[in-house]
Amino acid sequence: MFLKELKIFKAHGSQYIRDLTNVDLHALFRGRPEISGGITMEDALELEKLCPAGAITSSPEMALDMGKCLFCKECQFAKPDVIKFTNDYKTAVTRRDDLIIRAGDTGRLPFRHAEVRREVKRLFGRALKLRQVSAGGDNSCEMELNAAGNVNFDMGRFGIEFLASPRHCDGIVVTGPVSQNMAEALQICYDATPSPKIIILAGTDAISGGLFADNEAINRLFINNNTIDLYVPGNPIHPLTFINGILNLISKEPLKKDI
Ligand code: SF4
Repeated sequence: MFLKELKIFKAHGSQYIRDLTNVDLHALFRGRPEISGGITMEDALELEKLCPAGAITSSPEMALDMGKCLFCKECQFAKPDVIKFTNDYKTAVTRRDDLIIRAGDTGRLPFRHAEVRREVKRLFGRALKLRQVSAGGDNSCEMELNAAGNVNFDMGRFGIEFLASPRHCDGIVVTGPVSQNMAEALQICYDATPSPKIIILAGTDAISGGLFADNEAINRLFINNNTIDLYVPGNPIHPLTFINGILNLISKEPLKKDI
């Protein structure tokens, strides 16, 4: 009777990614960028001028700020011998400065596990409930955060979930550059979350304001006045970047595959 269904199950194969810490993403994925150590000043200046987000600087040294990057890949298209985006998705970090890639950097971004607040590791090791606040977001990072909970990524298997009420949450995930209209709502949501609470910034807009950083309709006071626990770069972020960042944040030891 169930033969047909069993055949369908077999044909479908596994519906979820078994090991989220060890996925080989497609080569076209725009993850951690690398800049050639031999880049000339001429190339650096050209790239700085070309970048629409001001993510590339040529002085005092050539650097690319993943917290500002739109991942449009225009720099790689223009100078493929100098700059390339790898498929490394483990790019979530605890320090804003660690999102800056310098010429010659090739290794994985450092996750400073020892700097994570002790109560975060102690209290949230087995589960983490989060409230998502779209503070002027464009729904791209929000969709990827939704995807993190789908059958494919299934972050719920680690006890990580989004809840409706901040009063039942352990922290907030901010997306969007924080518009004036959302600044107060964001603060109210944060105040309603019981301590100790964490703040996660998801995506370029939340991390730096992105293209809207200098816009007068943006209010970054909340971001500037609070301690940020996790920066998840991307435009939009990838669910695997988000999940691996959180797993690193709440695990007592660094994830083995990150050592
Ligand atoms: S991919 Fe990033 S660094 Fe390169 S041009 Fe686009 S915004 Fe600038």
